[in-house]
Amino acid sequence: MRKAKILATLGPASNNEKVITAMISAGISAVRINMSHGTHVDHLTNINFARAAAQKLGRPIAILVDLSGPKIRTRTLAGGLPVELKEGAEFTITTREVDGSESQVSTNFAGLPDAVKPEESILIDDGSIELRVESVSGPDIRCRVVVGGVLLERKGINLPNTRLPIPSMTDKDHADLEWAMGQNVDYIALSFVRTASDCREVKDLIKKLNRRADGRALLVAKIEKREAIENLDEIIAETDGVMVARGDLGVETSVEHVPVYQKRIIERAVANDKFVITATQMLQSMIESPNPTRAEASDVANAVWDGSDAVMLSAETASGEYPVESIRTMARIIDAAETIKPEELRKPVKFSLPPSGRTSQALCKAAAYAAKEMQTEKVAVFTESGLMARRLSSVRSGLQTFALTSSEDVYNQLGLIWGVMPFYRRSLGGDTERAIGEGTMLDLLNTGSDQTGDLLKIGEKTLLDAGVVAAGETIIMMAGRLSGHGLSSSVIVWTIGSEIPRK
Ligand code: PEP
Repeated sequence: MRKAKILATLGPASNNEKVITAMISAGISAVRINMSHGTHVDHLTNINFARAAAQKLGRPIAILVDLSGPKIRTRTLAGGLPVELKEGAEFTITTREVDGSESQVSTNFAGLPDAVKPEESILIDDGSIELRVESVSGPDIRCRVVVGGVLLERKGINLPNTRLPIPSMTDKDHADLEWAMGQNVDYIALSFVRTASDCREVKDLIKKLNRRADGRALLVAKIEKREAIENLDEIIAETDGVMVARGDLGVETSVEHVPVYQKRIIERAVANDKFVITATQMLQSMIESPNPTRAEASDVANAVWDGSDAVMLSAETASGEYPVESIRTMARIIDAAETIKPEELRKPVKFSLPPSGRTSQALCKAAAYAAKEMQTEKVAVFTESGLMARRLSSVRSGLQTFALTSSEDVYNQLGLIWGVMPFYRRSLGGDTERAIGEGTMLDLLNTGSDQTGDLLKIGEKTLLDAGVVAAGETIIMMAGRLSGHGLSSSVIVWTIGSEIPRK
């Protein structure tokens, strides 16, 4: 079982059922819908393709909607034609409506002249053009071109030294979030997060718009600004998970700092029981080539060894020539990386770190110790909202974690989480169903009587049917924070096929 998961961005290269089916077969268990491009109609078609294909293949698929956030852009150019900005020339960015030329261009952010100061840098198009602010006069920011280049229309503007007085969510983000929650998606990513309060605002909106019976969409804070690095601990405390968004992070800080921040972000996230996605340019050369470079293979493996829950493909699957091959390649690199044992990586084993005082940690560490003692590498967890499966994953004990849930939403959401293989079983089936009527695994816990044994048998049958355990094998079964009876907050050593003692 592959422990690190693959998240692939959908786009023109992958927006049909055939390619999406091949992508899921090749190894993805999550897709990213990038709200910076496309329409709601296109996105919904893709979500439906992904869900239908996953269902046919009997696999989970998590849907992550990536909100654009307050991205500052240049506006149009005269005749839509590119212009060349020459080093040393004067260039004005303005909030007036102008036809862009080699001497000026409009911006979509009205507050820009008030935010920037002389000597600050303005980067355009992922930093390929660099300007230095010389003066500001009314709506005009007069700059000097430090690094020249060809300017196209509607390119991103980054201001690495400027604190921007802008809300974390634009009007478009609000509309996109409402739409995404209407599609019952699993994850919402927010771009250009700066502070913990940016996360709080979106998380409150997610809670307000939630329509799930079990759990809710989880928030991913994209770490791509210097301010987010400065506020990392507070952001991690507030969000459900983070993304190392290396594209913008490399522009907003510097390329040489990206690996430093990657290590720090992953370490802080995992230490605080939050999931983490490493993203951007992972197999960049595969946009045009069927094979990766050695450096790319090494990058994916290192992101896995650092502790990423998932590694992400962007243009490789959204607009590249080899979307399915990119996934197969990534899957093979992960499989090879995971043959290395944690001791060989000399990483501290998390459950040997100082006590956290958290109940979930206590139970997960107990399960990990019990597994070690019983010489099994398998633990099955009954989970209502998915939280306990995520907590078990974040202990990074290396156990194969089977998450047993009667919620299809939770089943799909767990597709992104490290080391978790989710199983969905809605009905009880067999003798149990005949005895207590129709219901779900968790209804069983809520019947009030001691139904623990029946639940263990149902879990056992699910795992046996899937062929992931064998009769006579001893595994760990656990449940935590369940509102029902019997299995609430338990860690059980269980031999598959055992008889349940009856009172
Ligand atoms: C990034 O900047 O690395 C990123 C993941 O964001 P986007 O692809 O939306 O620019």
